[in-house]
Amino acid sequence: MPITNLLDYDLAGLTGYFAELGEKPFRAKQVLRWIHHFGVSDFALMSDLAKSLRDKLSAEAQIVPPQMISEQAAADGTHKWLLNAGEMNGVETVFIPDGTRGTLCVSSQVGCALECSFCATGRQGFNRNLSVAEIIGQLWWANHALGRDPKGDRIITNVVMMGMGEPLANYANVVTALNLMLDDHAYGLSRRRVTVSTSGLIPAMDRLREDCPVALAVSLHAPNDQIRDEIVPINRKYPLHELMAACQRYLEKAPRDFITFEYVMLDGINDHPEHARQLITLVRDVPCKFNLIPFNPFPNSGYRRSRPETIQRFRDILIQAGHIVTQRRTRGDDIDAACGQLAGQVQDKTQRLLRRIEVVHE
Ligand code: SAH
Ligand code: SF4
Repeated sequence: MPITNLLDYDLAGLTGYFAELGEKPFRAKQVLRWIHHFGVSDFALMSDLAKSLRDKLSAEAQIVPPQMISEQAAADGTHKWLLNAGEMNGVETVFIPDGTRGTLCVSSQVGCALECSFCATGRQGFNRNLSVAEIIGQLWWANHALGRDPKGDRIITNVVMMGMGEPLANYANVVTALNLMLDDHAYGLSRRRVTVSTSGLIPAMDRLREDCPVALAVSLHAPNDQIRDEIVPINRKYPLHELMAACQRYLEKAPRDFITFEYVMLDGINDHPEHARQLITLVRDVPCKFNLIPFNPFPNSGYRRSRPETIQRFRDILIQAGHIVTQRRTRGDDIDAACGQLAGQVQDKTQRLLRRIEVVHE
């Protein structure tokens, strides 16, 4: 019989597993707390379980987080973990502190099949989906490493599914991992503080609204279908007018009353004042906030970051139309932790990391 990894289960899954063992449902809650509250992976340490149950679990199950390859801290408090996803693949998780907020950026796939032209992960192509254990394992490790602040509060207050991969293309595993993030017996995060970022997989957005409504960010990046077809190719399947309607439907059940539209600023491609005006018309029926992301370059990307004054002008046009606009600061630059830089194989990654570590320790 294959050994079961209990890190793959949310409360419903673990309750089912314990039922098969002839155990009561409350055992699932106890074990979930040991795994996720206390970061325990050895059944022998689960002191409130009967010795016979501990022995049974030791024989039939394991708690196996992904293997940690490296951990780095940048000067600004950003942390980055590289976890082993097998076959020389690394999965990156980034922690970004900001005042009383601490946000963990979590990956959902190795590579991505959606091939957005400005994204390093997309250029890498699709390798595979991460398992639940590999997705929630990122939070498990980070929580373990960061612990709690002096008042006993959690350091990680928010999770954004904005690492490598398209979360809604790995739907079932991502929803199970989201359930764990939200469960009081696991991480107990508020729905409003867990954000899924999608390039716009409309059927999965509709399912998420029913199954596990959390905050939603949509990678818009273009004000019209002509540009979006080119830089976010999934737009050819799910064009903008359908995407806007899906956003409206999502908001009927969302924990927040707005959608965050992400917009990467690409020099000469999508950053003209006319594009800002088209954007205002496009989103007129969708309560939203904009997050302007200066493009993060990577080798042979073929794109340049928009100039600061161009971003400023674009932003001002949106603000004058009454929109709330945030501009993503580039964080953790010294450890390559910025959006779209989360890619690469362990081998060349490790070499890059070694160079970075020298920088960090200067
Ligand atoms: N696949 C999901 C989530 C992961 S990417 C999505 O596309 O939404 C998180 C965000 O970073 C997305 O908005 C994505 O478009 C953006 N991004 C990707 N590559 C980037 C780059 N090189 N510079 C800046 N942002 C980038
Ligand atoms: Fe995939 Fe998101 Fe990158 Fe597009 S931007 S290729 S959807 S990870």
